[in-house]
Amino acid sequence: MNYSKPKFKEKYGNFINGKFEAPDDGEYFDNHSPIDNMLLAKYPRSKESVVKKAIEAANNAKDAWGKTSVGERSAILMKIADVIEANLNEFAQMETADNGKAIRETVNADVPLAVDHFRYFASVIRAEEGSATELNENTVSLIIREPLGVVAQIIPWNFPLLMLAWKVAPALASGNCVVLKPAEQTPASATFLAERIGDLLPPGVFNVIHGFGPEAGKPLASSGKVDKVAFTGETTTGQLIMQYASKNLNPVTMELGGKSPNVFFSSIMDHDDDFLDKCIEGAVLFAFNQGEVCTAPSRLLIQEDIYDAFIEKVIARTEAIKMGDPFDMNTMMGAQASNDQHEKILSYIEIGKEEGAEVLTGGGAKKLDGDLSNGFYIQPTILKGHNKMRVFQEEIFGPVLAVCTFKDEAEAIEIANDTLYGLGAGVWTRDAHQLYQIPRAIKAGRVWVNCYHDYPAHAPFGGYKKSGFGRENHLMMLNHYRQTKNMLISYDKKKLGFF
Ligand code: NAD
Repeated sequence: MNYSKPKFKEKYGNFINGKFEAPDDGEYFDNHSPIDNMLLAKYPRSKESVVKKAIEAANNAKDAWGKTSVGERSAILMKIADVIEANLNEFAQMETADNGKAIRETVNADVPLAVDHFRYFASVIRAEEGSATELNENTVSLIIREPLGVVAQIIPWNFPLLMLAWKVAPALASGNCVVLKPAEQTPASATFLAERIGDLLPPGVFNVIHGFGPEAGKPLASSGKVDKVAFTGETTTGQLIMQYASKNLNPVTMELGGKSPNVFFSSIMDHDDDFLDKCIEGAVLFAFNQGEVCTAPSRLLIQEDIYDAFIEKVIARTEAIKMGDPFDMNTMMGAQASNDQHEKILSYIEIGKEEGAEVLTGGGAKKLDGDLSNGFYIQPTILKGHNKMRVFQEEIFGPVLAVCTFKDEAEAIEIANDTLYGLGAGVWTRDAHQLYQIPRAIKAGRVWVNCYHDYPAHAPFGGYKKSGFGRENHLMMLNHYRQTKNMLISYDKKKLGFF
């Protein structure tokens, strides 16, 4: 199949109460493709009045939706998954045009994973078992989970459809209504989804409002008429969202930034075989999705006795990453998501050089030909330095790898944990002791052992430290979108005996 930029309408509306609506003040913003900086479409620049309207629609829908049976909700979520799957290529092309990532990722990862998330939550709610405990022969404690009501969800631009699926699927499965604000850089897939699934859900159950953080996100997160705020984005934005939600004592979940260590022990070089090849690929995954991944393995820690031999292979594999037209299935790395992001990453490469880091490969922008010359491309870059440098400590969110060495297990753990963040980590070893003890010692919510960048719907995901709290994926997610009712039932005919 040949992939290409899909056709967009000139402008789109917000999706509120089951219908697309123009913004009430008529204001739109332009959305450009980072592939070639061409205008894709216009989206509403929503303000507080629009946000209130969407929240009201969700509140009007919540009682009826909250009372639907598990079977009904499961069937609807299954249909949503089917619709995404039936439109897989359209979603993938839209996501590539909007975000700049390579089509091989959107076709093989982003969209199929989103489908699987809806299927997983459609299934898991039917498999749940109730909880009734006999406290004594006359008293039973029943635990019942009730939906929260209306959930505000604010998502970033790096995996627009997948981040939507991570949030919307468990929220709907738990019986909540949703008001979702996609990132202003990537409004396309949420809109496309609303167009395709709008008639599967009662009006008001799923609402999408577009706009900027301070103008649309802030009133959404500050509203006293939502019952929870679920946020994925930068740590500093998460701090603001918590302040807004705290006025209403609303619960929040925070999926924030990261600076994940990827630790390679000497034993990986014991044999020249497939496993070593897998390790090299694991080190190069810093450039996956242009490095715009919250768990990007952006700090490479190599045991010093294998450093020279291993880094040589990592550099060679990095230099073989094929950059080019993101719609070409052979392209491995596409465009950074926006001009701002492009500038930020380049400035970090300069900061690294000024700090004295050695550029082992890459080190600047990548110029492509034709229309793509206006797009935002960066060479995958490896900087050698030490863990106190800013390029080791601050989230760059681009294809920039900071590499250093360690002597022994104790130093590996110390460097791995010397960070504000605690989202992801990788540990690579053939030693059975290390493959259990080192992940246990690393303070991160997800540690991949002899693998990386796998995101199954049924494994819990989330951060330690300044990477956030709460979890996504896995059935435990359902309880982040529900509250617990306890019914204490007495079958005893005797008086209580207090008065
Ligand atoms: P961001 O914080 O700038 O924006 C995220 C969302 O918040 C956007 O929709 C934006 O419009 C909105 N927003 C911005 N300011 C706001 C405000 N004052 N009030 C309300 N909403 C506001 O993040 P980003 O640049 O879109 O995404 C990149 C970040 O997301 C990185 O730090 C990355 O690590 C993180 N991320 C984390 C995970 C995770 O699961 N932990 C997953 C993906 C991305």
